[in-house]
Amino acid sequence: MSIRVIEEKCSGCKLCVRACPFGAITVTKKSAHIDITKCSFCGACVEACKKFNAIELIREDAAGFVEVDKSKYKGVWVFAEQKCGRIVNVTFELLGKARQLADKLAEPVCAILPGNKAGGLARELICSGADKVYLAESSRLGAFIEDTFTEVVTGLIQEHKPNIVLFGATAVGRSLAPRVASRLETGLTADCTGLEIDPKTGDLLQTRPAFGGNLMATIICPNRRPQIASVRPKVFKDVHRNDLRTGKIIRYDYKNHTLTQKAQLLAVVKDSAKSAGIEDARIIVAGGLGLGSAGNFKLIEKLAQVMGAEVAASRRAVEAGWFCQTHQIGQTGKTVRPKLYIACGISGAIQHLVGMQSSEIIAAVNKDAKAPIFNVADFGIVGDVLEVVPALTREVEKMRTAGQAEPVTTDIESEQQLALSN
Ligand SMILES: Cc1cc2nc3c(=O)[nH]c(=O)nc-3n(C[C@H](O)[C@H](O)[C@H](O)COP(=O)(O)OP(=O)(O)OC[C@H]3O[C@@H](n4cnc5c(N)ncnc54)[C@H](O)[C@@H]3O)c2cc1C
Repeated sequence: MSIRVIEEKCSGCKLCVRACPFGAITVTKKSAHIDITKCSFCGACVEACKKFNAIELIREDAAGFVEVDKSKYKGVWVFAEQKCGRIVNVTFELLGKARQLADKLAEPVCAILPGNKAGGLARELICSGADKVYLAESSRLGAFIEDTFTEVVTGLIQEHKPNIVLFGATAVGRSLAPRVASRLETGLTADCTGLEIDPKTGDLLQTRPAFGGNLMATIICPNRRPQIASVRPKVFKDVHRNDLRTGKIIRYDYKNHTLTQKAQLLAVVKDSAKSAGIEDARIIVAGGLGLGSAGNFKLIEKLAQVMGAEVAASRRAVEAGWFCQTHQIGQTGKTVRPKLYIACGISGAIQHLVGMQSSEIIAAVNKDAKAPIFNVADFGIVGDVLEVVPALTREVEKMRTAGQAEPVTTDIESEQQLALSN
């Protein structure tokens, strides 16, 4: 425990001197001085000084951490990530969740947007649920640099004291969130799959897989603020955009600030991969160890092709060398939320399920009727993948020839329809 006088606020009124039962306070030169050897940290002077708020009692727990006054922390913040002049989609997903959490707490939703000439993007955040946007602008904030962004984000959090801060668990969020949490000496729960408010305490309940995914742990941060969590893309639903929403954009100009910048961005190289990426795919056909061999993966590639789908794999299939790691679904792979997920020869281990169970429709093919994948599947076929998958492919091809189904593109901007309608 410690106590201090905030000199700028002290008027030298001596109210604290009269309130102190231990004679520990004297006033000289219009400022109070506390004799720590006499002070019992009873807080009587803090109470007496309520009008000026010039005395602060700082509590520490057994580990030496300073206990914060939680009532001073308000608002649910979302770190707005942008790439190549566009807001990254996970930001909108987080804004949707932030809105739900903030409504339960009766607190505002704010977004923090570091960028260069990013005013237009700030407006998008308001349309997607933010009440306020803290827009930190500088030519040095156009692209992500760890130390610069950490300084700006930490500074704004220290100034405005949000209750909760959410980051996307992207490459940028994974790099930034721990740095910010460490500077603020608060907790961070990474890769959350669920966020709720405890109705009794108002604390954030942060759920994520633990112990190798064998159980789901709910983590709280009861003594420190803000509560910081990161969430992977596609875990939460996209927010409904309302172009008529109004909000406040608070602009911070960092042009003349000396910002730390140990790293230098030399070039931005565009990924030349043709695929839109499984995170944005509307249909995914995924293969597991049940396919039996790398050669049999061709069967699901063919099914994916006729459906205009992306191919993905379980970790066991990836470890067997049958498909690339970048397309692994699950706890140590990608999280996806397609319209349709077809699991072929995948058992449905919890580590796989956490990456795909939010898909709109799940279909599974497995020869074992008791396979756990059937617990999350909307449609199940008990049978041999080597027979069922080619049969499905033939059926879809027939439907396409008959004009009943169109292949879909995985381009997220496309408005084309699903290959399989009902
Ligand atoms: C820390 C940790 C992280 C992990 N992360 C991930 C992750 O990110 N993603 C992931 O997927 N896993 C992950 N795992 C591994 C996970 O626990 C499972 O081992 C894995 O998902 C199993 O893959 P699978 O379903 O392809 O294989 P199996 O569990 O071996 O299942 C094969 C299935 O195929 C069925 N089958 C067999 N032959 C046929 C046939 N001819 N026709 C139809 N069905 C057939 C079987 O009945 C069985 O259900 C992780 C594990 C740990 C410990």
